[in-house]
Amino acid sequence: MAEPEFEQAYKELVSTLESSTLFEKNPEYKKALEVVSIPERVIQFRVVWEDDSGKCQVNKGYRVQFNSALGPYKGGLRLHPTVNLSILKFLGFEQIFKNALTGLNMGGGKGGADFDPKGRSDNEIRKFCVAFMTELSKHIGADTDVPAGDINVGGREIGYMFGQYRRLRNQWEGVLTGKGLNWGGSLIRPEATGYGLVYYVEHMINYASGGKESFSGKKVAISGSGNVAQYAALKVIELGGTVVSLSDSKGSLIATEGKGFTPEDISKIAALKLKREALTALEGHSYNYIEGARPWKHVGNVDVALPSATQNEVSQDEAEALIAAGCKFIAEGSNMGCTQEAIDSFEAHRKSNQGNAIWYAPGKAANAGGVAVSGLEMAQNSQRLSWTTEEVDAKLAGIMKDCFENCLQTAKEYITPAEGEFPSLVAGANVAGFKKVAAAM
Ligand code: GLU
Repeated sequence: MAEPEFEQAYKELVSTLESSTLFEKNPEYKKALEVVSIPERVIQFRVVWEDDSGKCQVNKGYRVQFNSALGPYKGGLRLHPTVNLSILKFLGFEQIFKNALTGLNMGGGKGGADFDPKGRSDNEIRKFCVAFMTELSKHIGADTDVPAGDINVGGREIGYMFGQYRRLRNQWEGVLTGKGLNWGGSLIRPEATGYGLVYYVEHMINYASGGKESFSGKKVAISGSGNVAQYAALKVIELGGTVVSLSDSKGSLIATEGKGFTPEDISKIAALKLKREALTALEGHSYNYIEGARPWKHVGNVDVALPSATQNEVSQDEAEALIAAGCKFIAEGSNMGCTQEAIDSFEAHRKSNQGNAIWYAPGKAANAGGVAVSGLEMAQNSQRLSWTTEEVDAKLAGIMKDCFENCLQTAKEYITPAEGEFPSLVAGANVAGFKKVAAAM
């Protein structure tokens, strides 16, 4: 079966490894690449559940246990009608190297089902989650495989699944992360991916400006309106930036007259999303809703773009539009948010020496904050301790700083940048993540 998304993720990794001096320095890693590209195990199962009208429904469930060289398989569960093995293999593959970049001991995995929660009642979502966990529980464990959320899986769904796991096993263990605070979740986990993304970009801005600039005064385009986009937006606002766009699967909400989103708007959006309602409710004098479009061609001049919706959400055309609009920093809150062609455009402009250079950070580095705090949740669960907001946030900030430094230094070490160009964070992230896993294998 063709696996276009997985092949895209694999080729993206390999092309940067091959353009570096990694295989020259470590010829044995060529074999490690062949080995790492095959999942250790793929589990597929049937999920049968009953809808509100008493009818039997069936979905395809999956867990890809990709690589456990660094620790238990770790990665989210996605519930979306597009979910198939190619998408979960691409996500699981990315997760291996992302988890390595957190510096914590976690392997890589991903799972989910082709279930569409849109239009489903809370009761139906609960029944689906319980049925899904009834099968998944046979294959996971706190030291084996620790799933978490991803698209359409938040605290509520994790709660339904965790309850079922406990009932089936008669045992409390940290088998899922992203749990509610009352049953072993970590403070800052909901915020972590968005906050971490902004911390990472803050280091990019700081480095590129020689320490002179920060998010303060920057115009920021964001796509998506889920957990990642919401908390990225709130952190940008807190740091003095202006958020000019958000989006959902039907279109984009663009701030007019240079006015940005307020924290109150983000709370309203969070409430809409929980009810799975469209962003159109917010359309008014401060915002235009552009139906059927992603934000990138409609945001005007921006300094930063943070794709935070789903894979392949920035095409080459859109990348060129962002570059023309003066955007200097692009970092993925989503996994593989940019197409290969869009990355090629950004990377070509990274080499620009004219003061208009572009700097692009891939998701496996820039959005690693989410899984990093999942790792911290696992650590707290094992110790039977709960850390404070300040403790977790400080650890997250430290992990994102180390991740940025690691990508930067690895890029300098393995691909010598030409005079005046920024080191490639894509190549740096890929080489640094792969090297750690290959050495462990
Ligand atoms: N789904 C998130 C990701 O793509 C988080 C995974 C986790 O916390 O295990 O990294």
